[in-house]
Amino acid sequence: MALQDGKIGNIERDEEIMYQKGRAWIELNKENLYGNIQQFRLLLPSGCALMPAVKANAYGHGAALVAGALQEQGVSSFCVASAAEGIELRHAGILGEILVLGYTHPSQFPDLVQYGLTQTVVDAGYAMRLQEDGRKFTVHIGIDTGMHRLGERWDNIDAIQKVFQLPNLHVTGVYSHLCVSDGTSQWERAYTLEQIQHFETVVEELHRRGISGFKCHLQGSYGILNYSQLCFDYARAGIALYGILSGKGDKVSASMELRPVLSLKARVGTVRMLYQGEGAGYGLAYQTGEDQKIGALSIGYADGIPRSMSNCGYVLCHGRKAPVIGRICMDQMLVDFTGIPQAKPGDEAVLIGKSGELEIRAEDLAGWAGTISNEILSRLGSRLERVME
Ligand SMILES: *Cc1c(COP(=O)(O)O)cnc(C)c1O
Repeated sequence: MALQDGKIGNIERDEEIMYQKGRAWIELNKENLYGNIQQFRLLLPSGCALMPAVKANAYGHGAALVAGALQEQGVSSFCVASAAEGIELRHAGILGEILVLGYTHPSQFPDLVQYGLTQTVVDAGYAMRLQEDGRKFTVHIGIDTGMHRLGERWDNIDAIQKVFQLPNLHVTGVYSHLCVSDGTSQWERAYTLEQIQHFETVVEELHRRGISGFKCHLQGSYGILNYSQLCFDYARAGIALYGILSGKGDKVSASMELRPVLSLKARVGTVRMLYQGEGAGYGLAYQTGEDQKIGALSIGYADGIPRSMSNCGYVLCHGRKAPVIGRICMDQMLVDFTGIPQAKPGDEAVLIGKSGELEIRAEDLAGWAGTISNEILSRLGSRLERVME
């Protein structure tokens, strides 16, 4: 619910925020986001700029809100997964460089030009498709140094050089992606060092052939956190910029004080007593072991709560834990309020974030659901209101 310009007095603004918190919502902590940017700027070598990954709706946080806040802090390069995501950012007033990391179909080539997006050259053949289109494109060349997903092979240096010579392509960057930089075992470190070396070889060889004036970048979050001595022009921080790691037990070498930006909350809809031995929810997948007080929360798997969290994990309410019971529904889920006598309809339940002394992190939810926090966050649904505070 957007209020008209000029009508946003404090009271109406408060009413709007209250309205947004009517069912299930995301609260974004701007101070923590800015703190995290600061931490990255302190860690990264001078001359290396942040190019935040705001793909997948900024990992569920809300791309326009997050990119807008980053832009206010002087961030002027962003990366997204698709042309459509880039267009959304332009409509939200994001200036500067927006790099599309993924494949763009030729039917969408006009959008790249119209919205001033930088396209990844996903391999040498793709560079030819862009060249043949007839329009002028700004591109970064993807280099495959070992992940084997996108990019021209690092050892096809002649093919890479040729992309620079295509008259319709303006190559402003060259980048690669690390695929085991989160691992700390010997083979993972060796493989990553090899990828780094391949990438540096490409850059040096291009320079040797008289090609220069392009930017280089290689590291995502774990590349930054585990190989912070590297110095390229950009660092593509994603998950860590949002203040969390992919997995709960992950160890990283850099010591940084990163704070979660996102909290996920939902209203308690109903509270009722069940007798011992009664079942609850679809499939009656939960059976009470005693007389129990249960609650229904206004959030479900359509909002991004994984169905695999059925009968698993807990939410927070009044600073205490309420275990998840029964199957997660599309729009609702059940919790056990037996230990929280004051819980009542209209209360706030916390699925990610703090309540009193307790905190649930995205990594915890990911652990309960058997996935990584990146997946949990990026699947948070469009029904959730996003409020930046
Ligand atoms: C998603 C992505 C990133 C950001 O990854 P994080 O691990 O979340 O920091 C960086 N580079 C590429 C190519 C990506 O696809």
